[in-house]
Amino acid sequence: GTTYGAAFAVRWMGTVAAAVAREADRLTELDSAIGDADHGANLRRGFAAVSETLAKEPPATPGAVLVTSGRVLISTVGGASGPLYGTLLRRAGKSLGETGEVTRAGLADALAAGVAAVGQLGGAVPGDKTMLDALTPAVEALRESFAAGRAAAEAGALATVPLRARKGRASYLGERSVGHQDPGATSSALLFAALEEVAAE
Ligand code: ADP
Ligand code: MG
Ligand code: MG
Repeated sequence: GTTYGAAFAVRWMGTVAAAVAREADRLTELDSAIGDADHGANLRRGFAAVSETLAKEPPATPGAVLVTSGRVLISTVGGASGPLYGTLLRRAGKSLGETGEVTRAGLADALAAGVAAVGQLGGAVPGDKTMLDALTPAVEALRESFAAGRAAAEAGALATVPLRARKGRASYLGERSVGHQDPGATSSALLFAALEEVAAE
């Protein structure tokens, strides 16, 4: 089947940067309801730095692109989402190893390793109203198609609305977190929408 290389991974990160910049106000608005109103700014700053770093010295493999992106997110985003998304991408990149080209199934395996690492770092499980509610079904559905991955991430983000937050700042609100969509699950859906977009090019 089709394989995806370093240039594809760079385009993916660039498309995520554009999407989080475009949606920053909405992400911040969601975070103002159940957090501290910085999620949009956090990710806009982080992914802009990722784009800049990748443009300066593009890594040679898709794994290295993701490892570098994760490292930049960890060093530029102060909020919880920086280390969490940084860990997702770094672990996924490490899992790809030195390979120059990856299949969609290979990418799904690598991202599944990344999602597991996010769970270990943050101690959250699906249902806790976090990014994992979008990421977990998305990597599973990615085995079927890029479109299925995007759709599962969006459904997962929407499904956070009735949940009560058990991790992160939103958990401080307890029952008052119910009725709001989780900002991190919403940004995770942008990652998978960007992936579908870039794969269709
Ligand atoms: P902060 O909460 O530090 O301001 P952000 O606003 O950038 O960081 O990110 C908040 C998002 O991070 C939440 O909407 C949630 O999806 C995610 N998040 C927070 N804590 C955890 C955790 N322990 N595990 C997984 N995701 C988490
Ligand atoms: Mg916040
Ligand atoms: Mg914050």
